[in-house]
Amino acid sequence: MSESPQVLVVGGGPGGASAAFWLAQSGVDVLLVEKKHYPREKACGDGLTPRAVRQLVDMGFDFDRPDVHRIVGLRSYAGDVMLEMPWPEHSIYPNWGATLRRSDLDGRVAGLAESAGATVLQGVEAVPVVDGSELTAVELRREDEDPEVIRPDYVVVADGSLSRFGRKLGTERRRDYPFGLAVRGYWESPNSTDGFIESQLDIRDRQGRAMPGYGWVFPMGDGTVNVGAGLVSTFKGWKDINTSRILDAYLADLPDHWQVGNDPVARPIGGKLPMAFSVGPKTGRNWVVVGDAAGAVNPFNGEGIDYAYETGRLAANLIAEAIATDEPAVLATYDDALVEAYAAYHRVARIFVSAIGNPAIMRTLTTVGIRSRPLMEWVLKVMANLLEPEERGMAEKVYVAIERAVELPGARRIKP
Ligand SMILES: Cc1cc2nc3c(=O)[nH]c(=O)nc-3n(C[C@H](O)[C@H](O)[C@H](O)COP(=O)(O)OP(=O)(O)OC[C@H]3O[C@@H](n4cnc5c(N)ncnc54)[C@H](O)[C@@H]3O)c2cc1C
Repeated sequence: MSESPQVLVVGGGPGGASAAFWLAQSGVDVLLVEKKHYPREKACGDGLTPRAVRQLVDMGFDFDRPDVHRIVGLRSYAGDVMLEMPWPEHSIYPNWGATLRRSDLDGRVAGLAESAGATVLQGVEAVPVVDGSELTAVELRREDEDPEVIRPDYVVVADGSLSRFGRKLGTERRRDYPFGLAVRGYWESPNSTDGFIESQLDIRDRQGRAMPGYGWVFPMGDGTVNVGAGLVSTFKGWKDINTSRILDAYLADLPDHWQVGNDPVARPIGGKLPMAFSVGPKTGRNWVVVGDAAGAVNPFNGEGIDYAYETGRLAANLIAEAIATDEPAVLATYDDALVEAYAAYHRVARIFVSAIGNPAIMRTLTTVGIRSRPLMEWVLKVMANLLEPEERGMAEKVYVAIERAVELPGARRIKP
């Protein structure tokens, strides 16, 4: 690199690859740098909801490849009670999802950005050069080489949940918002072509005591399943328990149809899930934060891939407009666009996860709520953010319906 690009994208996960793709599509000169080399490991359930599929289809992703495993719906367990629900029909989103290892997915989407005209460099770490709160330049560091300083007009910060780049620009996570912790591993299973992803809402330790947290099995279609466990900071006692213990308890009691062996294919790894757009500020004069770096994970279901694609696309469109109109102030509208797209939904989600953090409420929900198919089908629609435009506000209605159905004691009421 000898000349500075118009836009630098820091990080080659879903957020960065989507931003680079859409910037390149708009004819902008964009450089994406990823500090690791593809295929790189990422702690993830590898689950793509219909919303994520839609974003990938828009970028021209090939879902007909044999290593992509299609998913028709969710099988939800609360103890021994089980409910299978297909993905709902929707006017915009497909009625199917998919699983694909992140080690394959992310490099492929970065490849789509490259085909659209972006320059993609792997093994390059970006470090901000700041003067006060101003981002003045970026240092690009490669192993065994002298760093190079570039001065792009705009920077998209897509460096994931730890977001060291973002932190140096002054971004911080709101401590009063929920965040998640999760761990996953791969196990061999003769049932890896199952068409349903599966969740367990009631995990018990050896003594039969309820543990905070949830578990999942996502079939990968390649002879393995992705098994994981997660925890949200609103759950009572979350600080005293680590996700590996929840995973062990879950594995000890997995439904028989998975027939997983004792040993994982590789050692389980974990990570953080910053939720509900808890990180800010999200823009500066010449930078925008997307994906996990902005805390974009959906608190309802821990889904972050789609929201990284969506926020990357939104940021790219605004930067392309700022460049085309020579109006850097356009960037400041990013916050409003996020509020318009997600604020009402995330408000309900925050109240919901704080309510289910109470074990009594969670127990009632999992014993009573799961027995109502119509209620659970709405819950799935809301949790995966698959409401039709005219159903806006339905998230609140479903929350109120859950509240009534299970008479949530002490749940925070949503003001009309
Ligand atoms: C255990 C677990 C399970 C999960 N399961 C799911 C799931 O099934 N479905 C789902 O939708 N979401 C899931 N998530 C959330 C999802 O993984 C994230 O929300 C998603 O990866 C966010 O994408 P991103 O692009 O913002 O960040 P990342 O995917 O973390 O990508 C950031 C990239 O930036 C690179 N980078 C960092 N710093 C620099 C730097 N200075 N210079 C250059 N490169 C840099 C990193 O190497 C990385 O490749 C899960 C998370 C965890 C922890």
